Amino acid sequence: MNARPKKSFGQHFLHERRYIERIVSSISPRADDFVVEIGPGEGALTLPLLAAAGKLTAIELDTDLIPGLQERAAAVGELAIIHADVLKVDFTALAHRHGVPRLRIAGNLPYYISSPILFHCVEHAAAIQDMHFMLQKEVVDRMAAEPGSKVYGRLSVMLQLACRVEPLFNVPPGAFRPPPKVDSAVVRLIPLTPEQRHDADPERLYAVVRAAFAQRRKTLGNALRQLLDADAIRRADVDPKARAETLSPADFVRLAKVDTSI
Ligand code: SAM
Repeated sequence: MNARPKKSFGQHFLHERRYIERIVSSISPRADDFVVEIGPGEGALTLPLLAAAGKLTAIELDTDLIPGLQERAAAVGELAIIHADVLKVDFTALAHRHGVPRLRIAGNLPYYISSPILFHCVEHAAAIQDMHFMLQKEVVDRMAAEPGSKVYGRLSVMLQLACRVEPLFNVPPGAFRPPPKVDSAVVRLIPLTPEQRHDADPERLYAVVRAAFAQRRKTLGNALRQLLDADAIRRADVDPKARAETLSPADFVRLAKVDTSI
């Protein structure tokens, strides 16, 4: 149970029972849910989730942790372990393979790749019912930030255009072994329904958002110069003198959709 945590895998094992219980009760898994855990580690969340759901699929990259997990899970429920990098797991295919409409995803994420994991999940949002993640508090603050806030940026816009973002509670470093250097927080993400989702081209949207925030001190007219001229920005009902941090996610969608052939 006490393997030496590996820094290279972002391993910080949760040990404080009250936070484990709060996460599990926030998820409230039910017997017919298809729950997928990212990075089960030594099983701090896996075992209580398994006890509640009866079965669970866990994705773990570190080979050394797998035998111990299997052993501890045997008496609790049906644990399927996918030994892989989560970024290579196709969640949509996983749901189809198991004949379930949507997955419930959870995890105390390895912080060194938390943003890529979030973007990966967003790509598969249609196959996901909800997500509960432990992340750096600073990342959760950025995900939930509103226009005008100092931390409002690319992550806020892209996440909020795909999901409802609900920060739940904070977790101090002492709840983990070894303690991370930063505060952590648990967040719930609920993918928007197809009717709620935007209809802009995802690549174009990403290009606009990235360019706008790459030079956040510049006006949009300057920052987006390679992609849109001032007239096109105005046609999207956005002021070319405004800065990216003042725009709502919906403003970015209009910028991504504006007709540039005029
Ligand atoms: N869930 C455990 C807990 O709360 O104690 C462990 C959390 S630890 C912060 C992150 C876990 O993700 C580790 O078990 C680590 O080995 C695993 N991991 C790291 N990179 C991964 C990747 N690319 N794909 C899947 N799992 C990964």
